Amino acid sequence: MDRKLIAGFIGLVLVSMGAFSCLLAQEPLSKRIANYTMDVRLDPEKKVVSGKEVLTWLNDSEVELSELYFHLYLNAFKNNMTTLLTEARRVYPWRIPQLKKEDLGYIDVESIMLIGEEGVEPIDITPTIEYVQPDDGNPYDQTVMKVTLPQPLPPQQTIKLDISFTAKLPLGIARTGFRDDYFFVAQWFPKIGVFYEGAWNCHQYHVTSEFFADYGVYDVSLTLPSNFIVGATGIRLYERDNGDGTITYNYYQEDVHDFVWTASPHYLVYEDTFTHEYLPEVKVILLLQPYHKMFKDRYIEATKHALRYYGEWYGAYPYPQVTCVDPAYRSGSGGMEYPTLFTGGAYWLTPIELRSPEGVTIHECGHEWWYGIIGNNEFEDAWMDEGFDSYSDDRVLEKAYGPYYFSRRFLQIFPIVFKRFSYKPAWGSMSGYRPYAELDDMSRLAWEFMSGTSYGVNSYSKGALTMWTLENYLGPELSAKVFKTYFQRWKFRHPRPQDFIDVVEEVTGQDMSWFFDQIVFGSNELDYAIERISSSPVTKKEGYFDENGERAFITGEEEGEKEEKEEVIYQSNVIVRRLGEVVFPVEVLVTFENGEQEKKVWDGEYRWVRYTFKKPSRLQSAEVDPDHKIFLDVNYTNNSKTMNPRKLPAYKWAFRWMFWLQHLLETCTFFS
Ligand SMILES: [Zn+2]
Repeated sequence: MDRKLIAGFIGLVLVSMGAFSCLLAQEPLSKRIANYTMDVRLDPEKKVVSGKEVLTWLNDSEVELSELYFHLYLNAFKNNMTTLLTEARRVYPWRIPQLKKEDLGYIDVESIMLIGEEGVEPIDITPTIEYVQPDDGNPYDQTVMKVTLPQPLPPQQTIKLDISFTAKLPLGIARTGFRDDYFFVAQWFPKIGVFYEGAWNCHQYHVTSEFFADYGVYDVSLTLPSNFIVGATGIRLYERDNGDGTITYNYYQEDVHDFVWTASPHYLVYEDTFTHEYLPEVKVILLLQPYHKMFKDRYIEATKHALRYYGEWYGAYPYPQVTCVDPAYRSGSGGMEYPTLFTGGAYWLTPIELRSPEGVTIHECGHEWWYGIIGNNEFEDAWMDEGFDSYSDDRVLEKAYGPYYFSRRFLQIFPIVFKRFSYKPAWGSMSGYRPYAELDDMSRLAWEFMSGTSYGVNSYSKGALTMWTLENYLGPELSAKVFKTYFQRWKFRHPRPQDFIDVVEEVTGQDMSWFFDQIVFGSNELDYAIERISSSPVTKKEGYFDENGERAFITGEEEGEKEEKEEVIYQSNVIVRRLGEVVFPVEVLVTFENGEQEKKVWDGEYRWVRYTFKKPSRLQSAEVDPDHKIFLDVNYTNNSKTMNPRKLPAYKWAFRWMFWLQHLLETCTFFS
């Protein structure tokens, strides 16, 4: 770290203090249920964080509580029989290395003291600690701890616990841990579960699930060797040189539901400011690996795009600062979101057309809205953050950077961009979703999907396609109103799927249960197709016809001659089929050779519909969903037919599917 950077770093502290004074002035944004004051120390040699936390917790329920549940996430790395590592061997076997003794991680709660009134002796409740496994009963899993209180805690009363703990950090294989002298410290402290809907919601740590916690205030002091550069949730309030080669940093943040920090001697630190016509200013801090210096401007620009568009569409970013962390190589910490801090990911030789690190930066920064501010339960309703965020980042990418381009890496290193093959960012989700559409319901618990792919496809791809389809069904204005209303109503709270559905129905004034029942709570495929088209001259009239009260015998020749003198009428037939089980209203566009077009709207309910036209022109083509509004359609290649079949359209789509799939396989990550 050179002198200029150190000077910048000190300046940052002073500016942060200024930002903090703004922070203090505001009203609480959330119901501050879980509040932590922590004082911990990192031993970088032993990879150990130890210290204590004082938890002030409000029983916001309407019942007395005798038991408290805590997450001890780091115990997921304690042995190879934990639930996370058991699931990982099944779900992501290629990602899990053989862990050596020094690579394991765990957290020991040394004591829990119940702090009473002033002058009253604290009560030691450490002996009541029990490990419980609410999800799978796995006795080797110690990621959830239960403690029993000496007396029940009445509703709306606050409890204060003093907890001492030692956390051994694991090798960074899944989100948290170390890689040499790089530390990314996430899910690292005893963290109380959420009591809501009449029960404790405190799931074990699973490989395909993220997190859930109540909002509160975090006041965290981190002590570590002074050569480390640190980033964390919140604002740095002060730093103190301890005179023994260590330094203590204090971070503070209100109205967040987690606290993460990172430390490395190698970070380059940059800061910038997001400004906007009407959105509040946000300080942007970038912690960059020195070997990724060339990505500095691209990370910052992408972060600003996210702050701008999410802010405009849903609501302003409510904190004074956001930190973007470029993770160390092979640290397992990339592409993750935490309150006011997220990790990106970058690879050498990546031109901007590859949208990396832009894509991951916008996605993870976007989670500040869909996860950070909207605090849905990621264990149970993963699509509500991943789906909403994937949909939103598609929209930002398109606005800010235009279409995606198909690309390959020659010798797996050198990028080649095929500018002739461009596609909308959202279409990447289609290729991921299409082959796996029927594996699972999107609404399943995160760890109960058939596979990691099914979790990813349902939470990310189908989630995004569902939102796109909803937007196209409602139209842009109504859709924008739905998302903004939902965000504003549920910010700093814990919405469930029905809460979103209620907002959709309220804003649109429509019963939308048919949409959500089929798509969110079901796993049927949506596929409409043009089955058959035909067009031929109308058969000439022959036989007796009663016209004007008289019966006349008409021969084909006479009528035909008459018609030829005037015009030929063609009878055209179009059969549209519903191949999937999802019933969805569709548009059908029929085009005639003279350029005339007719658009029909079919409710899509029965298995098929036939349209018959009698027109002076031959039918040219028919297409179902001609504007490609229904992103959930699993097969676009059967959506159109022409009278003079050209194979090109089908091939064109087939090629695109292939490109998208390849692209997805190259870039997708389910650890985000
Ligand atoms: Zn995500």
